[in-house]
Amino acid sequence: MKTNKNISTNNNRIAILGAGESGVGAAILAQQKGFEVFVSDFGKVADKYALVLNENKIAWEEGKHSESEILNAVEIIKSPGIPDTVSIIKKAVENGISIVNEIEFASRYTDAFIVAVTGSNGKTTVTSWIYDAFVKDGRNAGLGGNIGKSFALQVAQENYDYYVLELSSFQLDNCYQFRPNIAVLVNISPDHLDRYNYKYENYIASKFRITQAQTADDLFVYCADDEATLNYLAENKIQAKTAAFSIKNKVEQGAYLENEEIKINLNNKTFNMSIHKLGLVGQHNIYNSMAQAIVGKATDLKKDAIRESLQNFKNLEHRMEKVLKVGGIQFINDSKATNVNSTWYALESTQASLVWIAGGVDKGNDYDALKHLVDQKVHTIICLGKDNRNLHKAFGTCADLMINVQSMDEAVKVAHHFANKGDSILLSPACASFDLFENYEDRGRQFKKAVKNL
Ligand code: ADP
Repeated sequence: MKTNKNISTNNNRIAILGAGESGVGAAILAQQKGFEVFVSDFGKVADKYALVLNENKIAWEEGKHSESEILNAVEIIKSPGIPDTVSIIKKAVENGISIVNEIEFASRYTDAFIVAVTGSNGKTTVTSWIYDAFVKDGRNAGLGGNIGKSFALQVAQENYDYYVLELSSFQLDNCYQFRPNIAVLVNISPDHLDRYNYKYENYIASKFRITQAQTADDLFVYCADDEATLNYLAENKIQAKTAAFSIKNKVEQGAYLENEEIKINLNNKTFNMSIHKLGLVGQHNIYNSMAQAIVGKATDLKKDAIRESLQNFKNLEHRMEKVLKVGGIQFINDSKATNVNSTWYALESTQASLVWIAGGVDKGNDYDALKHLVDQKVHTIICLGKDNRNLHKAFGTCADLMINVQSMDEAVKVAHHFANKGDSILLSPACASFDLFENYEDRGRQFKKAVKNL
């Protein structure tokens, strides 16, 4: 229903807010589908995207959101980075304009089979791992969402039979009809609460939007050891069929652990593999491999393709990435660990003894869960953030030594100084990076550079 509307609507016009990977992909797809397209970015548009927009003769602006160009659109495609609280979004809502994101929009234009993966941690790993198995099986598949080329651009330019998509909660927030054939929820732990009114239940509900349009023909894959997931499922009905994975209990449909073997049972289709053969180590990767194998069985991938992928898949950059051994000290780059839960798995899967580099922008972290691991394994904590008070409050009594630093070079030098032969130095910050770095990739790259310069 349109209310308060001073600007008349052009039913063929789409406004796109945010000219990043998803916005520019959506612009190209919308133009291809015959819409009049306008792209608006409040910040500066990166040169590579400006070039694409110009080459395709798509109208765009930067440094502002012109209401006269945006509020006359029939639909707005919003970048997941833009919160609902910004003025232009509030006005669009007042005017009754449909607001979706690039995933919702692009899904209208493809009949491909879609596997969508969300979760607080492990999304990129699981998505890439499933995609890897699809490729090994010879399927005509695209990888997208938060990774690589946008989904919309691929829908415009490719002709895939399958898509494996990584979706963040921000992307799910503006999805309504998006219906993945298989939805995977790897886990839920508190993150990004600043975007959810500091209410964990809002964030959980956002993750479950991945199932909202699914029907009984679809499959929902979840972790049966995950408390938040189980609590939600106890109170809310899911339309899709379900399959679960657990390392604690046997499950009827899905994956479980028996005698250090992963066992899959899905509609009487089975698969077994020793956890010692997995290409990625650590408890979290047992979960991730189970999610991969369930999807593999559900889509009838050949056993050999699933097995080969589970065995040979390599760690992605910035995720428990072994950098170098210097003087018998192993440096590990886990810069992608931007919350407490991912750092828990990092500490859990790394042998003592450790120098731990942590800190950055703390999104309301509760560090309690890490204390016993830090007690057991960490002798020195290097606090790499502008404000390290919360780290000191939480771990002041656990580690022998805590040292504040303000740059990656300093962090690596000080860590190296205090490490002993046989130790590991683990960068797993449990925090976002933007106080001192551009993003987690920049943080991880600076770490690796500093290690190589030692
Ligand atoms: P996301 O895309 O959800 O951020 P990634 O696959 O990039 O997840 O991994 C992010 C971090 O979380 C890495 O530090 C990794 O070691 C850790 N991690 C990976 N899988 C899991 C999991 N299933 N549970 C907890 N932590 C995980």
